[in-house]
Amino acid sequence: MNRTVTFVIGTTASGKTTFIKNHFSDNRNTVILNIYDYQQAAYKEAGFGKHIPFRQEFKCLYKANENLLVDIIKTLQEGKDVVVEQTLYKAKRRIAYIDAIRNAVENIYIEVYVMCPSDSAWNTYINERKLDSSIQQLKSIAKEIDFPNPSEGFDKIYEVIDGNIGLRMDAPKPEIVDAAHKELSEEAQQMKQEEDKEKQRLELLESMNSRRFWHYCEICGAKTFCTAQEAFEAGWDYPPRIGYFGLLGPRTCGKCTLNDTLFIKVHQQAIPIVIEKTLTEKELQTWRRIKNEPESLLEEEK
Ligand SMILES: [Zn+2]
Repeated sequence: MNRTVTFVIGTTASGKTTFIKNHFSDNRNTVILNIYDYQQAAYKEAGFGKHIPFRQEFKCLYKANENLLVDIIKTLQEGKDVVVEQTLYKAKRRIAYIDAIRNAVENIYIEVYVMCPSDSAWNTYINERKLDSSIQQLKSIAKEIDFPNPSEGFDKIYEVIDGNIGLRMDAPKPEIVDAAHKELSEEAQQMKQEEDKEKQRLELLESMNSRRFWHYCEICGAKTFCTAQEAFEAGWDYPPRIGYFGLLGPRTCGKCTLNDTLFIKVHQQAIPIVIEKTLTEKELQTWRRIKNEPESLLEEEK
C-alpha cells in the first residue's frame, strides 16, 4: 500500500495545528510531527535560551529541519503515514524534503495544505492565542511564502481558506528545481566549511594542553617555547592552566609579579575595558597577542 506524507504549512497563528487536529488526528496509522518540537530540541542542544545569536539560530533551524526529515523517513519506513506541521516557506526547502523522501521510500504520495486565512480568521487566532504579532506582521511573513508549485514534486496541492479546502495546482515552473538544487548545495557546502572550521579550532584548543607553544612575559619580556605543564611548573601565569586564551588576564613568567600587568591596569579603571589609545606600545603588543591567542603563540614573534 502507498504511504502518504501530508505537509501542513503556513505562518504562526494560521491554524495549522487545529487543521491537523480536525482532519488527521483520528487515524491510528498516522504519525503527526511538528517542526516546533524539533526547533526547541535543537536550541536546547545548542545550549540557548531565549537569546540566540542570528547565525546560531540559522544553524539550529537547519539542524531541526534535518532531524525532522530523518524522522519522516523513518516513520514511512515503519509503514505509517506522516502528517508534518512545518513552516517551509521556501520552495527549495520543500524540494530538499521531497527529493530525500522519494529517494528513501518508493511509491510515496506527497500532498501539501497551505494555510491562507482571511483577515477575520487571523484576528480570531491572534486573540485566542494572545499573540503580540499584529495581523500586518503576520501578513508580511505570509508574503514570504512561495506558494507550492507542482514542479516541486507534490502530487496534490491544496489551499485552505478558513477551513475550506480547494485544490490549487498552478502552472508548472520546472526552472525552480535547478535553482533550488544549486542554492541547496551552496548552502550545504557553506555549512560544512563552518563546521570544519569550528572543529579545527576545537582541535587546536585541545592541542594547547599538550603541545609546546610560545609563552611571553608581558613584564620582563622573557619568552620560552614549552608545554603548559612545563610553564606551570616554572611559575608562569598563562593559559590554559591559568586564565583563558583570547581573554585578558596576566601573562607573566615565574619571576614577575602581577602588579604591572595590563590586566591589573585595566581593572583599576572606572570601567574595566581595554581602551587601545591609552596603551603603551608594549601593552598594545601584549593586548594584540592575547586577542589572537592561541594562534599568536604558535610561531615565534619576530
Ligand atoms: Zn617576567
